[in-house]
Amino acid sequence: MSVKSPPFDPADPLGLDDLLEPEDLAVRDTVRTWAGDRVLPYVADWYEKGELPGIRELARELGALGALGMPLGGYGCAGASAVQYGLACLELEAADSGIRSLVSVQGSLAMYAIHRFGSEEQKRQWLPEMAAGEVIGCFGLTEPDHGSDPAAMRTHAKRDGGDWVLDGRKTWITNGSVAGVAVVWAQTDDGIRGFVVPTGSAGFSAPEIRHKWSLRASVTSELVLDGVRLPADAVLPGATGLRGPLSCLTHARYGIVWGAMGAARACFESAVGYAKSREQFGRPIGGFQLTQAKLADMAVELHKGILLAHHLGRRMDAGRLRPEQVSFGKLNNVREAIDICRTARTILGANGISLEYPVMRHATNLESVLTYEGTVEMHQLVLGKALTGIDAFR
Ligand SMILES: Cc1cc2nc3c(=O)[nH]c(=O)nc-3n(C[C@H](O)[C@H](O)[C@H](O)COP(=O)(O)OP(=O)(O)OC[C@H]3O[C@@H](n4cnc5c(N)ncnc54)[C@H](O)[C@@H]3O)c2cc1C
Repeated sequence: MSVKSPPFDPADPLGLDDLLEPEDLAVRDTVRTWAGDRVLPYVADWYEKGELPGIRELARELGALGALGMPLGGYGCAGASAVQYGLACLELEAADSGIRSLVSVQGSLAMYAIHRFGSEEQKRQWLPEMAAGEVIGCFGLTEPDHGSDPAAMRTHAKRDGGDWVLDGRKTWITNGSVAGVAVVWAQTDDGIRGFVVPTGSAGFSAPEIRHKWSLRASVTSELVLDGVRLPADAVLPGATGLRGPLSCLTHARYGIVWGAMGAARACFESAVGYAKSREQFGRPIGGFQLTQAKLADMAVELHKGILLAHHLGRRMDAGRLRPEQVSFGKLNNVREAIDICRTARTILGANGISLEYPVMRHATNLESVLTYEGTVEMHQLVLGKALTGIDAFR
């Protein structure tokens, strides 16, 4: 009996959809449709103006989709699989990295910190409203003088009677100015601890950072903590030391492994469409071998990256994913995604720098994605240490 192979699908050249269950495809389609309706028609304007108007409404809609704290269980969270969460990140970032950042910071940093390290009371107080998008969260780790080396942070929390008093400054904090709650990491006499800070607390402010040329459709802020007094139970009881925030970052980086491939896919599709319709020297530029070589290489890296993300997702679902493997994925996929976007930019020629097309927006967004959640160099050092057993961080 002869076996007939299915036709070649340019959108899925490796047949990776075979790896997905019907529920996975449903999640992907739902998020893709939402992003296509609610983000794509407007995002170039938001980007040009450097704003994300209607962020609260968008957050509520993302909550209704189940996209906030998606793989977490209970407390109003969707309890989705890691693969489904990854697919959602990919579709959101195919629209814009700023929207995926909103979801990553809300779900994988702020909510994850409370879900994993919080008291039952903290979970009940914050998670249902955060899952619904009624309360936006942010995650304050980076400081003006301490980025890649957060262990040296200066923000501190001191006991005063039964209370905690927080002083310090955080910077480059996604969602900061629109957050109702901030998870803030600070030095204490017992090492680094996490605090759940209602942003209405006296002494807390979050001025927005302007003049960004990347992630322009995303809110980025400083956090200023000037004698912020919190009750004793504001501390996250389950996290002591840097392992707490680092495990949140591992969770968020996992979403980036998928998300970066969304930005890459958008640029790849734009380049293919352009190459087929743009004519020079009397024929479509997609008919030139040099253009085809670029498109072939882009497709190879794009779908290898998705396959890698899927593999990590399955390991996460099986409880077998290691932080070093997430570093592997983030290092590779963001680096390859930015390369794909830059190559797409060349195929579009001068139009490549226009906001009429998505490629320059994605390429400049990915400059931030390359740096946040651990720079390329930090992930190389993580892998270097894992491969040699020698710590080269300092
Ligand atoms: C848009 C945006 C949003 C962000 N959102 C958040 C957020 O929500 N919460 C949060 O806490 N932070 C956030 N960040 C901050 C981000 O995590 C930091 O920028 C990142 O950790 C790098 O820190 P840094 O910028 O201080 O760079 P630095 O640590 O100063 O690094 C500068 C350069 O030196 C290199 N370097 C440093 N140490 C070494 C070494 N030992 N060996 C080799 N090279 C080294 C780095 O790799 C990098 O290339 C955000 C950043 C951006 C751009």
